[in-house]
Amino acid sequence: MTKAFTTYLANKGQDLATLTNEAIYQELLHYVKDNADQMPKNQAKRKVYYISAEFLIGKLLSNNLINLGVYQEVKEALAAAGKNISEIEDLEPEPSLGNGGLGRLASCFIDSMSTLGINGEGVGLNYHFGLFKQVFKDNQQAAEPNDWIQDESWLVPTDVHYDVPFKDFTLRSRLDRLDILGYQKDTKNYLNLFDIDGLNDGLIEDGITFDKTKIKENLTLFLYPDDSDKAGELLRIYQQYFMVSNSAQLLIDEAIERGSTVRDLADYAYVQINDTHPSMVIPELIRLLTTQHGLDFEEAVAIVRQMVGYTNHTILAEALEKWPLDYLNEAVPHLVAIIEKLNDMIAKEVSNPDLHIIDQSGRVHMAHMDIHFATSVNGVAALHTEILKNSELKDFYELYPDKFNNKTNGITFRRWLEFANQDLAAYLKELIGDDYLTDATKLEALSAFADDKAVHAKLDSIKHDNKLRLKRYLKDNKGIDLDEHSIIDTQIKRFHEYKRQQMNALYVIHKYLEIKRGNLPKRKLTVIFGGKAAPAYIIAQDVIHLILSLSELINNDPQVSPYLNVHLVENYNVTVAEHLIPASDISEQISLASKEASGTGNMKFMLNGALTLGTMDGANVEIAELAGMDNIYTFGKDSDTIIDLYANQGYTARDYYNGDERIKEAVDFILSEDLIAVGNKERLERLYHELLNKDWFMTLIDLAEYIDIKETMLADYENREDWNQKVVHNIAKAGFFSSDRTIAQYNQDIWHS
Ligand SMILES: *Cc1c(COP(=O)(O)O)cnc(C)c1O
Repeated sequence: MTKAFTTYLANKGQDLATLTNEAIYQELLHYVKDNADQMPKNQAKRKVYYISAEFLIGKLLSNNLINLGVYQEVKEALAAAGKNISEIEDLEPEPSLGNGGLGRLASCFIDSMSTLGINGEGVGLNYHFGLFKQVFKDNQQAAEPNDWIQDESWLVPTDVHYDVPFKDFTLRSRLDRLDILGYQKDTKNYLNLFDIDGLNDGLIEDGITFDKTKIKENLTLFLYPDDSDKAGELLRIYQQYFMVSNSAQLLIDEAIERGSTVRDLADYAYVQINDTHPSMVIPELIRLLTTQHGLDFEEAVAIVRQMVGYTNHTILAEALEKWPLDYLNEAVPHLVAIIEKLNDMIAKEVSNPDLHIIDQSGRVHMAHMDIHFATSVNGVAALHTEILKNSELKDFYELYPDKFNNKTNGITFRRWLEFANQDLAAYLKELIGDDYLTDATKLEALSAFADDKAVHAKLDSIKHDNKLRLKRYLKDNKGIDLDEHSIIDTQIKRFHEYKRQQMNALYVIHKYLEIKRGNLPKRKLTVIFGGKAAPAYIIAQDVIHLILSLSELINNDPQVSPYLNVHLVENYNVTVAEHLIPASDISEQISLASKEASGTGNMKFMLNGALTLGTMDGANVEIAELAGMDNIYTFGKDSDTIIDLYANQGYTARDYYNGDERIKEAVDFILSEDLIAVGNKERLERLYHELLNKDWFMTLIDLAEYIDIKETMLADYENREDWNQKVVHNIAKAGFFSSDRTIAQYNQDIWHS
């Protein structure tokens, strides 16, 4: 069906050999868009709307070529004309519509919905300057606008517009779409990105600051604008309402188009609420059904109650939004009346005020509204769902036991194996065929090769080639000089204290001091970090600063750098992940147990043959179960212990500091003359005191065990046979973590599409 790219060019009178890389990129963009254009839209009756504040989609060219089934052909045609596909891939800017795991998950999900032939689409906002671009200055993070939209892009304009009413004005929307092609599928879906026309980038001042009150001009400038003041909180409410009002209007229009009478709307649509940001879709649907479609309130509520599901992604309090009624009244008073009626309904049925939607101080608990009105409430990994049921949302679980279910996260293997690790993918096909592309559990056939020395040798050589590719990428793009002969130990994810990058940094200090004392390791270790910290999150910025300072100190120390390097890769994003993961030996998944709901980075590393060094948290627990405890390195206190410690204020950082000389020495080094010489004293002092006097996420509780297990792991690396045996077992069991499996479960248990 898909015409060859060379034929497409020939028809346009173009010749690959004479085109510049930039011109080839443009031609490929149009070639894919033409193909997508001719593909019919999936029209199944019940359509899923996956509403999400973020979609961290990554570059689209290669993924689209893979899904069209022409990637290899295009790559070879380019090579034959003396061109290199990866140089062309480099020209595409990465869209900046997401922040971290939640947005990346949403992107894997829309890929899988298309691949499984589900009529399911993403809905979100088109932030012109994204989250922010991270740059390092003086060993500190600075934030700059991420201007990712080019004149010629993957966005497809539509003539869909809606009026979205706010208290003092109405904003007219505009809809741009991205085509979401499934893997070798002949129907497509969309990612719907709503926007406004009057956006004014002239509002942006220094870095990413701007006038937060000019809603008509700033609404879609940035994802997660600073909400440390009232204007910021209001802007987030404006953004969220704009997102869900557009979603709800689109959903109702499309259902009517497919034959709905509106009274049967739930047969035509299902809304998945991704974290609490889209929660206002519940009252908004009720508002539209009553004011525009003639239903009475009870009828509208009954319909909405059959067509929404809520996914909880975290137990961190900061992510469970509670909007003051006063603020909602300033922006969307027409919703407040509905939310109050919903609260009254619940208050009649449920006496416990802790479960009401509006609390005594007049704050609206978005998650409570979701849980009361959703058909389904799901967590994102087995352990996380159990924690929701048994502690975080215990009272809700007792009220609605049947609503609660688990959907362990997943990743799309098209991007995270086929594209990111092409040599490994090709080799797997040689060994076990290509069935795993459509049924990932077929990877289990690899287990038969676990002891095969020829397989081990080939895996080593693929890993080495990936390290060389990473070396080139880091040199050309990030100013980093990577030693490809070292063990690559990688921790890439958002910077947050619960993820405990600071614990890894303390290990680095420990190792540095050991080397200084003459305890030299057998093989060089390169510790790589990547990740952004929220601009308002001071301690996370201090951790970034510590790592950048360590990096300067260690990499420039001629006594230490032959044995240890530390790098923090600037502006971590999907493209960086695609280069780092296939080249890594060790996957750092060291969150404080109970705090990482699932993680998906952990799954990407497993699939790419890195061994996990992790706590029993999130999906690490399932990785351990599947791969086997012998094939993963676990340590640290378990989630029950940690939950108890929080309940009883049972953790004192100083006890651990005083109890182990290695810990004391590593923490003290933060205030050493050597570090202060390259760093910022104020930041180092603040971090030191935080670790000693507060340490809310219990860094020190697991540090001693962490140092020990990491040393064991580095020693084990020297036994290449045992190590590669573990690698094979991990890849063989990674099939469970395909997002195709996750989405099949959502559809089977929740969406019934
Ligand atoms: C997978 C991914 C994440 C999520 O990583 P975790 O380790 O699960 O937190 C975040 N950002 C990017 C760019 C990713 O690809």
